[in-house]
Amino acid sequence: MRPIHTLVVHHTASKADAHTWADICAWHTAKGWDGVGYHFGIVKDGPGWTEVEGRPVEKVGAHAKGHNNGTIGIAVEGNYSETHLPREAYRILLRACWRITRQFKIPPENVVGHRELPYATECPGLLFPLERLRGDLRDMQRLAALGKDLAEDDA
Ligand SMILES: [Zn+2]
Repeated sequence: MRPIHTLVVHHTASKADAHTWADICAWHTAKGWDGVGYHFGIVKDGPGWTEVEGRPVEKVGAHAKGHNNGTIGIAVEGNYSETHLPREAYRILLRACWRITRQFKIPPENVVGHRELPYATECPGLLFPLERLRGDLRDMQRLAALGKDLAEDDA
């Protein structure tokens, strides 16, 4: 497995509902890329939101120019410079970020928005709650550590 230190959050900048994950995969493939550039997607699927898999995490992504090595890319469908992230999309994203950060031992401060990297982009949107996402991941980490300590105390 390649070394992973950072999780980069994106939006697709397309309207949620207007396109499918398959469309996004097709656009990226049409650019001559090795399939979709993101490793995970959070997409609107009918009335609800769901997580989908993109490029296998073992493969370097094509999602953040100059920052694809050592990173995993996750994209939320929609444009979050125009609208706020729906509550359910946030919930699914947080769950995915929690799982990925635990699996690859990525600290919450290394969960970054694409626009926080030195690259001119608004992605994942100016209204995207990046601080809240990192704060929630820190809280979850604290609670998990506490749970582990309690379990050890029981032994
Ligand atoms: Zn992006």
